Amino acid sequence: MTEEMVPVDPDSKITFDCSSQNECFNECCRDLNQALTPYDVLRLKNNLGLSSQKFLRTCTSLHHGPTSGLPVVEFKPNPDAGYECPFVTKKGCSVYPDRPASCRMYPLARAIARSRETGQIVEYFALIEEPHCKGFGKKNGQTVRDWLKDQDVDMHNAQNDKLMELISLKNRIMPGKLEGALADKFYLALYDIDEFREQIMNKNLLKGLEIPKSVFDALKADKALLNFGLSWVKKELFGIEMVFKG
Ligand code: SF4
Ligand code: SF4
Repeated sequence: MTEEMVPVDPDSKITFDCSSQNECFNECCRDLNQALTPYDVLRLKNNLGLSSQKFLRTCTSLHHGPTSGLPVVEFKPNPDAGYECPFVTKKGCSVYPDRPASCRMYPLARAIARSRETGQIVEYFALIEEPHCKGFGKKNGQTVRDWLKDQDVDMHNAQNDKLMELISLKNRIMPGKLEGALADKFYLALYDIDEFREQIMNKNLLKGLEIPKSVFDALKADKALLNFGLSWVKKELFGIEMVFKG
């Protein structure tokens, strides 16, 4: 499959429409090779009413990056349907409100960098033009910014950017392969968050850490727990002290 990447900015006009009327409907949900971020997992497992453990075991496969050792969680393809996403149906995506960031963004690709001058995150976008996708040339008058708003992807991007910063920190401080207990902690705190909560609440995982009650109580909510997990991983991997605002 050949593809073309065309750089665009937020105010660039794009002529694109993804609709069930397109002859390619659902094509992009087949032939999957899709990594899921921790926030993708959080949204999907809640959509399905599953614990993170059950979701990860049933719907995903896990391997580790050969150089980084970081966990890579991917959709487990439906064995009866080649590499099709387990959530694609004839009517479209069965988890649409909680579909992953990469599904929301397609056919846009997004990269980020932190500005040295301002410290702010700067976003870069490109259109991925693949022959199987027939949505191009179908809708006038929208910008990249409009598309992103329609896809309701801001929260996913904000959470995924925190993961990217953690990974780039790891690459700077600990460039080798993450293995053993450290790799397990990364997976536990960021992907298997219901088990992480269980170990915090009932198995004294945070023994020795003085956590204000308000922070501890807030860990009942998944997003707060995920953000806590990002800080905890930085402490466990790099010795960066956790700061609590009680
Ligand atoms: S999660 Fe939904 S949109 Fe994403 S690949 Fe699966 S079926 Fe398609
Ligand atoms: S291939 Fe493109 S236009 Fe067709 S359903 Fe997927 S994203 Fe939409």
